[in-house]
Amino acid sequence: MRRVDTLIVGAGHAGLAMSRCLSDRGVDHVVLERGSVGERWRTARWDSFRLLTPNWLSRLPGCAYAGPEPDGFMTAGELAGYLSAYAGSFHAPVQPYTTVVRLEHNGSGFTVHTTQGLWAARSVVVATGFHSDARIPALAAGLSGDVAQVSSSAYRSPSQLAEGGVLVAGASASGIQIAGELARAGRAVHLAVGCHTRLPRRYRGHDILWWLDRVGTLDRTIDQAADADAARAEPSLQLVGTADGRGLDLGVLQGMGVRLTGRLRALDGTVADFADDLATTVDSAQRRLDRVLGEIDRYAAEHPESAGTDPDPPPVIAVPATPDRLDMTSAGISTVLWATGYRPRYAWLGVPVLDGDGCIRHRRGVTDVPGLYAIGLRFQHRRSSTFIDGARHDAAYLTEYMTRGHDIWTTST
Ligand SMILES: Cc1cc2nc3c(=O)[nH]c(=O)nc-3n(C[C@H](O)[C@H](O)[C@H](O)COP(=O)(O)OP(=O)(O)OC[C@H]3O[C@@H](n4cnc5c(N)ncnc54)[C@H](O)[C@@H]3O)c2cc1C
Repeated sequence: MRRVDTLIVGAGHAGLAMSRCLSDRGVDHVVLERGSVGERWRTARWDSFRLLTPNWLSRLPGCAYAGPEPDGFMTAGELAGYLSAYAGSFHAPVQPYTTVVRLEHNGSGFTVHTTQGLWAARSVVVATGFHSDARIPALAAGLSGDVAQVSSSAYRSPSQLAEGGVLVAGASASGIQIAGELARAGRAVHLAVGCHTRLPRRYRGHDILWWLDRVGTLDRTIDQAADADAARAEPSLQLVGTADGRGLDLGVLQGMGVRLTGRLRALDGTVADFADDLATTVDSAQRRLDRVLGEIDRYAAEHPESAGTDPDPPPVIAVPATPDRLDMTSAGISTVLWATGYRPRYAWLGVPVLDGDGCIRHRRGVTDVPGLYAIGLRFQHRRSSTFIDGARHDAAYLTEYMTRGHDIWTTST
């Protein structure tokens, strides 16, 4: 059995951020990774994928994007390269192709079973990602075998799908991006729209994420949220990163011929049943958008040097008449594409730290099992924890906590 002070499980950006902070403190550690560095960006994204966050918003401990396009959007392959270069820059002790299959707590630490043998560690940091598996609703079981189904994490490109139309379920980041790609490829697309977070790509002359960073939205902590569970369940941003900076929303998709429906409520064979809620859903997304833009306007008024241009809000979405039922066979739909979110997977975690939803119970990544920590969780502490850019704060906090043994920082950290 090999021994180490700290084992990090997972070499995505969060595990690497943790490794960099522990390295800076001289903490003996190893990063176990089932594939290679940034594995999910290599194997679990569609071919045309680009980040929706601009390149400059990929800061990691001791590293900022220094490439030629700070305002561009990396492809998944470019991000995997960025992470590999980052790991190389501080000789991160990554042991690739090593899957953790079981973690057990013993009196003084942890026994970690892997496909490459046993490890003993005093501390373990879980960094296996919050977006491990597609979250497919139970109603999928009602779909006839005559219609194919594929999740956004298994989708690669339009040519992979059977000929015919596609019903995309879910209109957050993955759903709108894939619906747009399918429409551009000439597919007839229906998009079932649930709760979503609408944002324009650009506002007042800047990228919207520049504003959210500047205004402090990304720095807000979970303690400031009125309802922490709701804040952690917020859908991803309805944004796309493209080389030409163009935006994508329900209005643009309708202009491309995508037909919108309400939330997919049931599937019975080849018949889809939709809620009559599109107007309400679009309206509540618009109200949240107005609040965000109002906050930016107030900030711009107080900081004239940042004001950019005059307010240029995106047009209000025109809500079309929507069907409440659709016979997919008659409508020529051959595939249902699930873009209904992701869930973490901790089947290997043999310690009682999961809540009823299968998520790790924690406070700022510290679990109630001594020596067990997690990083890369949704809204782990700041809103930015959900993004690549936020892991640097969480890694710094956890490193401080682990090396000093108590909560020395306040929520402003
Ligand atoms: C479709 C999509 C688009 C996104 N777009 C953006 C974006 O534009 N900008 C942004 O900032 N964020 C984005 N995110 C959110 C977030 O940054 C990613 O989910 C990110 O990959 C999380 O990083 P991580 O290091 O926590 O986990 P991951 O990148 O998932 O890394 C976890 C690692 O753990 C490894 N692993 C898992 N299980 C085991 C095991 N048992 N043993 C050993 N290794 C294991 C995996 O192979 C993987 O390499 C997006 C997420 C998704 C799903």
